[in-house]
Amino acid sequence: MRKNIVAGNWKMNTRLDDAVALVDEFLNLCSEPQTSVILAPPFPYLVPVVELTKDLNNIGVAAQNCSQNASGAFTGEVSAEMIASTGAEYVIVGHSERRQYFKEDELILSEKVNKALQNDLNPIYCVGELRDDRENGNYKEVIEKQLTKALFHLSELEMRKVILAYEPVWAIGTGLTATPEQAEEVHAFIRSLLADQYGDELANATSILYGGSCKPDNATELFACENIDGGLIGGASLKAAEFHAIVNAVKPS
Ligand code: PEP
Repeated sequence: MRKNIVAGNWKMNTRLDDAVALVDEFLNLCSEPQTSVILAPPFPYLVPVVELTKDLNNIGVAAQNCSQNASGAFTGEVSAEMIASTGAEYVIVGHSERRQYFKEDELILSEKVNKALQNDLNPIYCVGELRDDRENGNYKEVIEKQLTKALFHLSELEMRKVILAYEPVWAIGTGLTATPEQAEEVHAFIRSLLADQYGDELANATSILYGGSCKPDNATELFACENIDGGLIGGASLKAAEFHAIVNAVKPS
């Protein structure tokens, strides 16, 4: 059966001392979570966060991005190999902020996914529609394109290493959350696309997380949906108590 996962995307927040304090505070609340937890700090804190969590069950570390290139003269970039060498096991690819501010399209994202997999990192691949797509009713086409163009070249074995996140862009950091019905509709749609491409067994084994203003007060309802397997949490992951409450809102596997 698929895993329930709660991942915290800290984005470009915290100083080193805040990052260590945030992990310490979370671990004081929850050193052995029942649900799989993934922490995604900024690059400079991957090593200390891996150090603080490496002996704990059910807690992993993700980078928030990786380069589509393997190595070389790409000043300021961080490769998947570098990330893997820190002990991190995951990398977020295709977050809407990367798509929007850094113009990452599906071709670039497919190369990032390939680099992640070649270096034994599990990609957490994000999809989601803009507000206009939701209002125009073409959100399913957008999501299908984001999945097929960046992921569906993968072999079945590779696809098994991918975690998906549905993050409607209009809900990220806005305080607007998709209703459980809206989120469940898209999660079920994503699972049906996986089933068409890779078969039912793989589709049912893939974790699909919801992201977009997920908070302790709406997490339980969202996570109760059949096809929602946890969350990718932005703002609320910067507060240990809120993040802990969201982790606790996950249904038992
Ligand atoms: C995110 O950035 O992945 C996210 C879901 O942010 P927030 O929870 O703040 O909406």
